[in-house]
Amino acid sequence: MFVFRFLLIVSLGLFAASPICAEDVVPGKATEKSKPSAAAGPPSAFSWVHVDGPYIAMTFDDGPSAKLTPKLLDLLAAHHIKATFFVIGQNVADYPEIVARAAREGHEIANHSWSHPNLSKMSDEGVRRDLRKTDDVIRSATGVRPTLLRPPYGSITARQKKWISEEFGYEIILWDVDPLDWRRPGPVAVCNRIVRNTRAGSIVLSHDIHPGTIEAMPSTLDQLQAKGFKFVTVSQLIAMATPEPPKPSPPARSTTTKSTSPAPAPSPGS
Ligand SMILES: [Zn+2]
Repeated sequence: MFVFRFLLIVSLGLFAASPICAEDVVPGKATEKSKPSAAAGPPSAFSWVHVDGPYIAMTFDDGPSAKLTPKLLDLLAAHHIKATFFVIGQNVADYPEIVARAAREGHEIANHSWSHPNLSKMSDEGVRRDLRKTDDVIRSATGVRPTLLRPPYGSITARQKKWISEEFGYEIILWDVDPLDWRRPGPVAVCNRIVRNTRAGSIVLSHDIHPGTIEAMPSTLDQLQAKGFKFVTVSQLIAMATPEPPKPSPPARSTTTKSTSPAPAPSPGS
């Protein structure tokens, strides 16, 4: 019995010392289907960016959270990683000092609406008011005007993309890696999903309002760094965009894949 207990303790200790998730995919070799890039002319939205080099952008939505965002900022600082925060305007109004700290530490702060409505179901005037108010509160917290918008749920019409880009000067940002962390699958699943699917040019979606996401980050960031990925903000990633080489044989059967930026499946938590 004593021996058994000893062995159990040793094996638990080994388990605890190992990373919470492990993957063996190398950068650029992820098997996810090819997504559009910046190279196909001015895109109406970015899901990922074609880049020469192992650059990726981590994005955190729906904050700031009074408790979790400062923890995440500590982690990012320890890893020397710059990320992009798609913030909710009313949370910025509650915790402007957290957003100011993030901006001061080199992270990008971007618009994710005032109260997380589905923009595609709103009037132009309603959308305009919501985005303007959020733009203003970000600017007053950070001194900098945001240049990116991620619509809640990834939900936005083609017409809205056009007028919002023209009026606000925003790039519309979606994502290509989604760990579905809003379902709270636990830190191991969040880590595995991100590490497995991230490739060069990826825009990784997650949320700094779920404890499991923050718990997943030390291991996730360690493993992504161990694979050689380098972390930049979304604006930096877009600035690095390079033309995508032409595909050797265009798919003859495809009739509906013309769009330069099909939205990823809507993510209720995005
Ligand atoms: Zn969201």
